[in-house]
Amino acid sequence: MNIPLVEIELIEDALKVAALAAAVRSRGETLICQRCLNEDEIIAGVLVIDAMDEQWALCGPCWREIPQGAHIV
Ligand SMILES: [Zn+2]
Repeated sequence: MNIPLVEIELIEDALKVAALAAAVRSRGETLICQRCLNEDEIIAGVLVIDAMDEQWALCGPCWREIPQGAHIV
């Protein structure tokens, strides 16, 4: 798999995740895990991809499945 070089920010801080979830809710949407789409799972972190202006919410189990190589800080 070819991973393009993009700015990726991993938000794991519970307060920041909660703030993001609140921002999404204010738009009438729900922050759910975009990998398993399970609305019952609590979001453990959010991947922010600046270049694509995308935010990927991930639940606990999915978050732990992120390859360590993706942990760019
Ligand atoms: Zn998930």
